[in-house]
Amino acid sequence: MTELPLALVTGASRGIGAAIAHALAPTHRVLLGGRDAEALAKTAAELPNSTPWPVDLTDPEALDRAAADIGELDVLVHSAGVARIATVADSTAQDWRDNFEVNVLAVVEITRRLLPALRTAKGHVVVINSGAGQNARPGWGPYAASKFAVRAFADSLREEEQALRVTSVYPGRTDTEMQQAIVAGEGNDYDPGRYLRPESVAAAVRTAVTASPEAHLTEVVLRPRVTR
Ligand code: NAP
Repeated sequence: MTELPLALVTGASRGIGAAIAHALAPTHRVLLGGRDAEALAKTAAELPNSTPWPVDLTDPEALDRAAADIGELDVLVHSAGVARIATVADSTAQDWRDNFEVNVLAVVEITRRLLPALRTAKGHVVVINSGAGQNARPGWGPYAASKFAVRAFADSLREEEQALRVTSVYPGRTDTEMQQAIVAGEGNDYDPGRYLRPESVAAAVRTAVTASPEAHLTEVVLRPRVTR
């Protein structure tokens, strides 16, 4: 029997990444990235073809160890991310570092380590970007700058590695713990009905990943629609 293709999803312990793991699981073996071992074990119990991949993405030695076992990789989804939101005036150097460390450097570093495995599989790299990676609005500078940077990473990779597919996905506000923290910081009430569902973003990722082999969805933009 042929083995299912292998997908690694970072940020799979919750939010958009967990939804992507669920969406890919029927057709892929899924490695579940994240630091929260309990949450990863719970998801792994729900998805028969999945295995926890507990790695702090900011720890280069842990990344070396975790990537060493992967010889062939069909899909790499970068969903792990942080959102340190502040005006330029109020932001600290640490805000900028935190955003760039996880949203940019970690994406680059895992991809670099897994490029041989991706080339072997003629694989697909999916970067969960953000509307903030297309428009930098007031108050969002440190986060938006990291998302603009990871867009440049994806565009360069797509041109350099022509046998791979590289997709940037730009969701608008999505109902996750990250969004709850952002809305709390803005001092507003949280109404999940105003935001995208993580499952909708995951369905878009699945569409890109399961597109016929000659088709390359390079960019996917999603925005919440007012339905009431
Ligand atoms: P979330 O609910 O806060 O989840 C973030 C995920 O990132 C968690 O699984 C977390 O894992 C992982 N993570 C963070 N730092 C990590 C680290 N150092 N090492 C390993 N894993 C780490 O966020 P989300 O809303 O699902 O966001 C997912 C992606 O979508 C992010 O790139 C975000 O920028 C983007 N996005 C979100 C929205 C939105 O409105 N929610 C909109 C547009 C784009 P642990 O908890 O296990 O550490």
